Amino acid sequence: PHSALLPTPSGRVNVREIRHIVIVGGGTAGWMAAAALSRLRNGTNVEITVVESEAIGTVGVGEATIPPFVEFNRLLEIDEAEMLAASQGSFKVGIQFVNWGKLGDSYIHPFGNYGYELHGVTFPHVWHKYRQGGDRRPIQVFNLETMAAHFGRFAKTEDYGSRDDLPPTNYAYHLDAGRYAKFLRGYAEKRGAVRREGKVVDVALDGETGFVTTLTLDGGETISGDLFVDCSGFRGLLIEQALKTGYEDWRNFVPCDRAVALPCPREDGSGPMPYTRATAHSAGWQWQVPLQERNGNGHVYCSEYISDEAALDTLLGNLAGKPTADPNFLRFVTGRRKKFWNKNVVALGLAAGFMEPLESTSIHLINTGINKLISLLNLSGVTQAQEDAFNRLTGREYARIRDFLVLHYSATSRTDSDFWNHCRTMPIPDSLAEKIELFRSNGQIFREEDELFTETSWAAVMMGQGIAMGGHNVMADTLPEPTTRREVDAIEQSIRHVVSQMPAHGDYLAKYCPAT
Ligand code: FAD
Repeated sequence: PHSALLPTPSGRVNVREIRHIVIVGGGTAGWMAAAALSRLRNGTNVEITVVESEAIGTVGVGEATIPPFVEFNRLLEIDEAEMLAASQGSFKVGIQFVNWGKLGDSYIHPFGNYGYELHGVTFPHVWHKYRQGGDRRPIQVFNLETMAAHFGRFAKTEDYGSRDDLPPTNYAYHLDAGRYAKFLRGYAEKRGAVRREGKVVDVALDGETGFVTTLTLDGGETISGDLFVDCSGFRGLLIEQALKTGYEDWRNFVPCDRAVALPCPREDGSGPMPYTRATAHSAGWQWQVPLQERNGNGHVYCSEYISDEAALDTLLGNLAGKPTADPNFLRFVTGRRKKFWNKNVVALGLAAGFMEPLESTSIHLINTGINKLISLLNLSGVTQAQEDAFNRLTGREYARIRDFLVLHYSATSRTDSDFWNHCRTMPIPDSLAEKIELFRSNGQIFREEDELFTETSWAAVMMGQGIAMGGHNVMADTLPEPTTRREVDAIEQSIRHVVSQMPAHGDYLAKYCPAT
């Protein structure tokens, strides 16, 4: 029924009209893609099919997100309170890192900025100038999210009337990923996406172009498509098993390769904190994600330095209550596919690559992958230019996030285990080494190539890990006084005012989006 494969103007043979998009996999990636793409059905005749296998199941531990995810849901016109109620969701204003720079240390990587630009100079430079002049206030008091986290409070900007003179709250969510995927399934099916249950056992390729043409399920049923979105998880059913795309292994930079996950109720009397906690242990780190009625927990570790049993014991010794499920052990290789888009297959989620959840970036990469796919999508066919652009942009995103993760491991003064001795002394990417050197010399951070992490993110983690801001932009010394000092004081005061008005995070959730 489709037009023949035609050469593109560049002479590359890859045009085929897109009438049917087939998504393989119904985990977070599959249903996020289906929800976003199902909106195409309004006004086009594109069919959307999701194939998933209950027998295989999902990874389903992705629970912590970052602020662009709020926008993803907003663009889909999802009712926030309804979604949070359905997925046990809570709010998140940042991540607390415990024992990373050295044992006993703790810092917050907040979502919002430290202060704001004053007379053309970014805030950390102004802060550093006063600091050198004897002002002892830590930079954290100039960040709303850090202060809200410190007091366990939460409210949104609109709750206090979106006043221009008060700082906005930047936030994301903690979610039960399985429930969220179920919620999105309802959303996508309502908009015409069709779910097919079954295990894909065969993938047929076009003899001439190598494009994927047809999937065969274990019951014998076949599904043909024009564009395939591979959301099949670690196995990369289409992108790797069928197309043999290849994988870049990044374990030399980010050595952890296993995790064990366990949910538990909060029996220690603590409320849901509005932040994720990442506690470093002797051969990895533990996440604690506060949902409304339980905590998600897990221990990410390096199998070269600790056994599975010992990793589980460490986790069990650091929980807020008794586990409510059996431990779920996972293995992974940090890295990325050599191509994320190959021929007529676009890989999203774990099928595209894996970076550990230290900065909650996996669901984010699904989100940006979907955004890029939709921006590039042309229903008259796929071209080499689309494939190249998608791969270049995604590759950069992965590399920048990788550098940020490496920073947490390499910038440490811990000497208490072989694992930390390895991390402290391992070679780091040149791009990261340059970033650290610039910060050490005069506190400069350049946000490159639209990278995800902001100047505040880099500064928070560098300082938190023990890298001192070694100087400031000379322009900070030229700012008008006493105006600038007054503006700096006003930032701190308005943050203290807003946070003092915020309710406890648990009270906010109970009123706004109690779990259903
Ligand atoms: P999966 O959940 O594995 O889904 C794969 C789907 O493909 C399933 O539906 C399966 O049935 C289907 N499938 C596979 N093979 C076949 C077949 N042959 N036939 C039919 N169907 C098939 N991300 C975050 O953003 N924040 C976090 O805090 C976070 N924590 C994590 C912790 C750990 C330990 C791990 C491993 C990951 C974490 N992630 C996190 C990542 C997050 O879990 C994933 O990005 C997210 O769940 C997406 O998974 P997925 O949909 O790609 O794959």
